[in-house]
Amino acid sequence: MPRQTQIGLMSPAELVSEYETQQANYAKLGTEKLTLDLTRGKPSPEQLDLSAALLSLPGADDFRDASGADLRNYGGLHGLPELRALFGELLGIPASNLLAGNNSSLELMHDVISFAMLYGTPDSPRRWAAEPVLKFLCPSPGYDRHFAITEGLGFEMIPIPVRHDGPDVHAIAELLAADPQIKGLWAVPNYANPTGVVFSEEVVRELVSLPAAAPDFRLFWDNAYAVHPLTDAAAPIADVLGMAAAAANPNRPIVFASTSKITFPGAGVSFLGGSTANLDWYLGHAGRKSIGPDKLNQLRHLRFFGDAAGVRAHMQKHRAILEPKFQLVLRILEDRLGASKVASWTEPKGGYFISLDVLEGTAKRVVALAKAAGIALTAAGSTFPLGNDPEDKNIRIAPTFPALPELEQAMDGLATCVLLAASEKLLG
Ligand code: PLP
Repeated sequence: MPRQTQIGLMSPAELVSEYETQQANYAKLGTEKLTLDLTRGKPSPEQLDLSAALLSLPGADDFRDASGADLRNYGGLHGLPELRALFGELLGIPASNLLAGNNSSLELMHDVISFAMLYGTPDSPRRWAAEPVLKFLCPSPGYDRHFAITEGLGFEMIPIPVRHDGPDVHAIAELLAADPQIKGLWAVPNYANPTGVVFSEEVVRELVSLPAAAPDFRLFWDNAYAVHPLTDAAAPIADVLGMAAAAANPNRPIVFASTSKITFPGAGVSFLGGSTANLDWYLGHAGRKSIGPDKLNQLRHLRFFGDAAGVRAHMQKHRAILEPKFQLVLRILEDRLGASKVASWTEPKGGYFISLDVLEGTAKRVVALAKAAGIALTAAGSTFPLGNDPEDKNIRIAPTFPALPELEQAMDGLATCVLLAASEKLLG
């Protein structure tokens, strides 16, 4: 039943009645003995099945690239040239500026920062670990695993507000110009995790051009959801390397991507894009870590997709599975929470997440209530550095993994928890 009343405008008596209603709903939820999970942004088994043919590729007699190189052997640190060209087309990066790696782009991000810590970048006055203080700009809400990398390596993390068109460039401009300890910024330019925001061209231009006090400031440009639209109008992919070169900061962006949310997260291919200087620097260090990536897996992906159009067609199959899930979540949020005005949420046009803001000061309570009712949510605060959401209001919803009936139950239960926590809080 759609709600009729704005909770913040209720009289004390109405509020008590609202609280009692939600308590009763919550008690009923408890009797359902749910075990539902809205935590991690994993593809569902049905999505994984879309790539089942990969398991029998490339086949016993197929192990050479176009130049005749035997991909079963060591070498080929740059990755398979044909696959670099294919994904270069999708990411708007020349194949010569793109490397193909193993299954995790997060590992590449960790490697790049670790190499910078240990050796410095081509533009660093000294290795990062020798700096007295290291800082990183963290658009928030953002991706918890990004923040875990910079937390683990000892960076002071500075949250940056996220606007509808990307991170707040005015806030970034001031900090960047004044503080040489700021070495990097986490960026998810297309369908960001968890807000779904797509950076506007203007924001990208600012990010590559802004004066930075640190000569070795880097944009960690994680394009994890580059080809993941949920509508007919796919968001354009900014030519961040070209724009950075034109702004005389060619080494500023380092681009990351992977097929984790395209084929298999556990057995996909990752990509690293950058200027020639950045790639030479990266390969110089990576070449001591490994004699080359899993090129047979890269060949398997090449054979599976054929070309860039093959990837786009494959992503439409994902969309057909995901769109109803996103629509369901948005419908339940609107039906159960719309009129109450105690929550707001994003309506992403792509990617893997919906970002829900509940009444300030209640996100932790909502997550705890949901947990006790058998609905697992990502920990409140995890979308902020150090898990600290100063307003205690953001919750990340990951609708991709559960089947529709479970998703419906989980969202309905979550809505009850949001309303219960809000009426509790307003009653004081
Ligand atoms: N980057 C973002 C923004 C993500 O949301 C995720 C996974 O959820 C990853 C990276 C993980 O990438 P990979 O599987 O390539 O390590």
